[in-house]
Amino acid sequence: MPKGVLVFAEVSDGKLSGIAAELLGCGRGLAAELGGDLTAVLVGSNVAGLAQSVIAAGADRVFVADDPLLADYATDSYVSVIEKVVKQAGPSVVLLGQTSIGRDLAPRLAFRLGTAATMDCVALAIDPATKRLMPTKPVYGGNARAVFACETEPQVATVRAKVMSPITPDPARHGEIVSVAASLEPAAVRTKLVQKVKEELKGVKLEEATVVVSGGRGIGGPEGFKELEELAKVLRGAVGASRPACDSAWIADTQQVGLTGKVVTPDLYIAVAISGSSQHMAGCSGAKVIVAVNKDPEANIFKEARYGIVGDWKKVLPAFTAKLKELLAQ
Ligand SMILES: Cc1cc2nc3c(=O)[nH]c(=O)nc-3n(C[C@H](O)[C@H](O)[C@H](O)COP(=O)(O)OP(=O)(O)OC[C@H]3O[C@@H](n4cnc5c(N)ncnc54)[C@H](O)[C@@H]3O)c2cc1C
Repeated sequence: MPKGVLVFAEVSDGKLSGIAAELLGCGRGLAAELGGDLTAVLVGSNVAGLAQSVIAAGADRVFVADDPLLADYATDSYVSVIEKVVKQAGPSVVLLGQTSIGRDLAPRLAFRLGTAATMDCVALAIDPATKRLMPTKPVYGGNARAVFACETEPQVATVRAKVMSPITPDPARHGEIVSVAASLEPAAVRTKLVQKVKEELKGVKLEEATVVVSGGRGIGGPEGFKELEELAKVLRGAVGASRPACDSAWIADTQQVGLTGKVVTPDLYIAVAISGSSQHMAGCSGAKVIVAVNKDPEANIFKEARYGIVGDWKKVLPAFTAKLKELLAQ
């Protein structure tokens, strides 16, 4: 069998993470182009029950390392287990999510395997002539995109969330499940998780919202964001922000959209008093429809938006929200 693709199927809160399903969806296409199979690796404690959902999401084979010592993510233990699986499976391409775990694991894994990692990719393709991976990633602060090639195997890449599409899960799909002994000595796990603090979430999660109302520097302060919250509530959406608004602590950092923030792909993205820098657009250009409210008719956001309103948001937004309320009440 020619070499295929291996996906690190990250688990979050006891469930297969969204990024794992996205990587499996994209990995299927890449494996087909390579003429190989799609393998996944599940690592954790009490994760064996997730193997069938990994197969349903597209994997042909799942390696499962289920061990109480793997309950919490620790670099040492995870990297050694995944290294073992990669050596056993022998893939040509290894994919991880650009998550806090993937960012930590990928370079260490690549080093151990004597190869390189391409981080934060937004597109992946196989060169038909060489059958090598061609990952695309933003460079120069998001102002350009570069296509890379890795000379060594396996070719390791991390992929940003929400840029790949999962396939529709098929619970009837068949695949092979292979148990892997973690063979860890407790002393080998040098990092201990002391405390987990869960962020309290009010309303809809930004990354999952179908409508996002984002505010920028032109909002002028935290008070203005109340107006955005009102509109988001009417549309059952979430509030996002540009970096200056987060840096000024007008809204929590977790709501930042963009290159160094979150990537959102809602049906509707309403950008209020945001100029439309390339770094901001890196986080929202995947939205189906962008509506911009800006007082500067020359603002770049109008080049990106399907609908634009030139005006002061303080006048436009309350009127817009009131009209929506009126229409929704009918
Ligand atoms: C490496 C790097 C990473 C970055 N990552 C991110 C990122 O993840 N996300 C991000 O957002 N930025 C990021 N930035 C910053 C980015 O370059 C821009 O500086 C930022 O996006 C600008 O934010 P803004 O549009 O809110 O502010 P500005 O560019 O200052 O625009 C404010 C807009 O508000 C309009 N306005 C003002 N008052 C009103 C009013 N009353 N009514 C209507 N409109 C009004 C103005 O006309 C203007 O267009 C990054 C930069 C770098 C170098």
